Amino acid sequence: MHTAKTNAKKVAKRATPASKGSTRGDLAPERIAAILKALDEAYPNAVCALNHKSPWELLVATILSAQCTDVRVNMVTPELFRRFPTPAAMAKAGLPELEDLIRTTGFFRNKAKSIQGAAQTITDKFGGKVPETLDEIITVPGAARKTANVVLGVSFGKAEGLVVDTHVFRIAHRLSLAKGDTAQAVEQELMRVIPQDKWIDFSHQVIHHGRQVCIARKPKCHDCNLEPLCHSKDKTWQS
Ligand code: SF4
Repeated sequence: MHTAKTNAKKVAKRATPASKGSTRGDLAPERIAAILKALDEAYPNAVCALNHKSPWELLVATILSAQCTDVRVNMVTPELFRRFPTPAAMAKAGLPELEDLIRTTGFFRNKAKSIQGAAQTITDKFGGKVPETLDEIITVPGAARKTANVVLGVSFGKAEGLVVDTHVFRIAHRLSLAKGDTAQAVEQELMRVIPQDKWIDFSHQVIHHGRQVCIARKPKCHDCNLEPLCHSKDKTWQS
């Protein structure tokens, strides 16, 4: 981490000497490249933490992960998919049974309706298979852009957009990569500055960074290899 930090420091000095805090310096290609390099160095193997065996299972797990940890979702999905292994089976499930199975993930009534509705739509409209375009996935109940981007990126290797969850939203602001006040606005800003071939990795890496280092309440800036590139007001340590 020391070498990565030293490299980031050199780029930070070159990219933002006279314009520290300015939009131009923040979004300079050299600074963006340094941020991506630091993320690659810190999280070379970042992958989706939701256990799944198919695009359908990932879609359901992502719906269940709203306002809930991936660890908790991974506790409930094995039994859920054992009882209802296909979209057609889940479409016929009773809501009370689904609610019982996913209760511990929170907001279980809405989530049960969403996954049953998703199962119905995937069965009736898409022949039992999760579609492979963003425009189609967002027609599935419970699946907004974030869910669609997770499934497209992880299951199909397609980058039509960027996953913006609470971690990506927070860290995009802290790193001055985005200013928008909605996930969709932040996604559009990130799509303009992050090269498309990095969209999938970037989201996974930033989510890991948000869980491990750049945590919401008290970021561990002393342990962060992006620190020389970051001028967030929330910083708890300055090199
Ligand atoms: S320096 Fe601190 S606030 Fe900035 S990205 Fe790293 S952990 Fe987050």
